[in-house]
Amino acid sequence: RNNAEKFEFQAEVSRLMDIIINSLYSNKDIFLRELISNASDALDKIRFLSLTDKEVLGEGDNTKLEIQIKLDKEKKILSIRDRGIGMTKEDLIKNLGTIAKSGTSAFVEKMQTSGDLNLIGQFGVGFYSVYLVADYVEVISKHNDDKQYVWESKADGAFAISEDTWNEPLGRGTKIRLHLRDEAGEYLEESKLKELVKKYSEFINFPIYIWASKEVDVDVPTDEDDSSDEEEKAEKEEETEKSESESESEDEDEDSEKKPKTKTVKETTFEWELLNDVKAIWLRNPKEVTEEEYAKFYHSLVKDFSDEKPLAWSHFNAEGDVEFKAVLFVPPKAPHDLYESYYNTNKANLKLYVRRVFISDEFDELLPKYLNFLKGLVDSDTLPLNVSREMLQQHSSLKTIKKKLIRKALDMIRKIAEEDPDESTGKDKKDVEKFSDDDDKKGQYTKFWNEFGKSIKLGIIEDAANRNRLAKLLRFESTKSDGKLTSLDQYISRMKAGQKDIFYITGANKEQLEKSPFLERLKKKNYEVIFFTDPVDEYLMQYLMDYEDKKFQNVSKEGLKLGKDTKDKELKESFKELTKWWKGALASENVDDVKVSNRLDNTPCVVVTSKYGWSANMERIMQSQTL
Ligand code: ADP
Ligand code: MG
Repeated sequence: RNNAEKFEFQAEVSRLMDIIINSLYSNKDIFLRELISNASDALDKIRFLSLTDKEVLGEGDNTKLEIQIKLDKEKKILSIRDRGIGMTKEDLIKNLGTIAKSGTSAFVEKMQTSGDLNLIGQFGVGFYSVYLVADYVEVISKHNDDKQYVWESKADGAFAISEDTWNEPLGRGTKIRLHLRDEAGEYLEESKLKELVKKYSEFINFPIYIWASKEVDVDVPTDEDDSSDEEEKAEKEEETEKSESESESEDEDEDSEKKPKTKTVKETTFEWELLNDVKAIWLRNPKEVTEEEYAKFYHSLVKDFSDEKPLAWSHFNAEGDVEFKAVLFVPPKAPHDLYESYYNTNKANLKLYVRRVFISDEFDELLPKYLNFLKGLVDSDTLPLNVSREMLQQHSSLKTIKKKLIRKALDMIRKIAEEDPDESTGKDKKDVEKFSDDDDKKGQYTKFWNEFGKSIKLGIIEDAANRNRLAKLLRFESTKSDGKLTSLDQYISRMKAGQKDIFYITGANKEQLEKSPFLERLKKKNYEVIFFTDPVDEYLMQYLMDYEDKKFQNVSKEGLKLGKDTKDKELKESFKELTKWWKGALASENVDDVKVSNRLDNTPCVVVTSKYGWSANMERIMQSQTL
């Protein structure tokens, strides 16, 4: 084309496209859901703009917020069009090739090691999956602020952009034309496309139509009775009979008249066929939504189409001053970068809708940082629709929403434990009965804890209002847990008569702690001691002072009381001179005091940290951080 401008793909994008086009990856289906997801995003954008400016929608067909799929079997072209926001010339240049998204190189790397393209959508480069099935792609787009343009590329390192003077005008939106490769012929089958939309795009909130063919029988007049074919004749007679019996009111005369000679032929007609049910899952009654449906909804929400189900979900309807519906999910796995630069970044994971209209997935006001591993959405009827995102972000209702979401999230997590048969260890028999025998639930809390336990600890540190609720969710090993995880409630149920404090010790690992002289006497007296071996535990215990009216006592610190011993006073007296001398001798070594201790059994002496000082483990952690 003579008006085409040529551009080179940014290097990382070009690499990504090379990998995709040469990929032997068998699941090529994913391209369709990526295109539909982009169309849906574009529709969300124009709908959002229309809240404050009705004019942007235009009129006539342009107001129809929908997605259309069309096939051209002869030319082997599959096209997907939307009436979304569209792209200006500049958008086309930037979004489709010259600027690499932050996830591009991460995805390229992942592709090279795992070869799994399934997560492409999560990395923000889903569009390029079109090259799994096409060797030439055209993107025709019309944005309200610009003319209609065509972007085209054969994935050969370059793309071209031209003002569109030859295609039909789109009005507004984007049409993607995929020139399918020979081996991608299956995507020219309507049935295949229908199946894919059902499978992957069921939860798109805009109608998806396919230009579907329909075989219909039509009677066409024939010039002469040439139907020597007996079968056809019989068929025709049968049909006439049927229509007679069905229409009794028909004129007798007409019936006796000589029938006009017709024959039935198959004819193909086309019409738009709706492929999805656009009723949003969160508007439905939770009792009527199946587990399968929640799992599928989760997968489409996070663009992860692996088979792993979410660990838990909570679907509820909040009423009162602030009304909203929400669905929250605990993912099956933590993303690899969940705790990376935890304090510097906000990773919002909930989508916010106001009265069914998608507003943003970047609101970090909805959940506290420590819960940002959750996925899901909130749809509020209380928030105003016709204000900017910035104003919405300041809205007072958000605080109430956040509070309720936290409560529900913690309930959901508590339930994972309650329903897990493994969690019943160490509980009373009457408690055991409430656990189901459901194999699906077995070991789920351990799984949760291994993936997200650190988030619960960070929550205890950050969220004073929910500290006790979060402490209930805490798991750890102890001198009596027998290699398994145990909870504070279970610890308390095992406490010795007269034991006031909850004992714990911190260190690098359990093996080392088990040999600690600090445990000698406690073990001998049959007290249980919690092992805290995660660096974050040291910080945690600065915030977690007590639980159910019991104080926490670090057994390597001053203040350990193991019940009264009548000999204590005597011993203290008889060693008075020795301790005094010793204290003097160590005065220059940062030693505060020397005391007779009842915490040891075989070891003659031990260094103890003062009540408010850093434990030895904390010293170790701090040292490794400064190095
Ligand atoms: P992502 O959807 O995660 O942003 P993609 O690679 O799928 O990544 O798409 C890249 C960008 O191209 C989108 O962010 C969007 O700006 C633009 N885009 C793609 N498809 C469309 C479309 N149908 N309408 C408008 N913009 C689109
Ligand atoms: Mg996309």
